Amino acid sequence: MYVVCREHLEEAIDEFVDVYEMPPDIYKLNDITFTKWTAPATCDFCDKHPIYLVV
Ligand SMILES: [Zn+2]
Repeated sequence: MYVVCREHLEEAIDEFVDVYEMPPDIYKLNDITFTKWTAPATCDFCDKHPIYLVV
């Protein structure tokens, strides 16, 4: 699972495909809420505010 900014979305997808050998589902963080999960404050690849969840 990756939480990434717009610039690192492609990178996260590439890594996901490498690891899981299948395409990920991509969600916008604004569109989803998890009761037991709070989105990290920063992208997994940089310090920017994340936009997408790649799972
Ligand atoms: Zn980033």
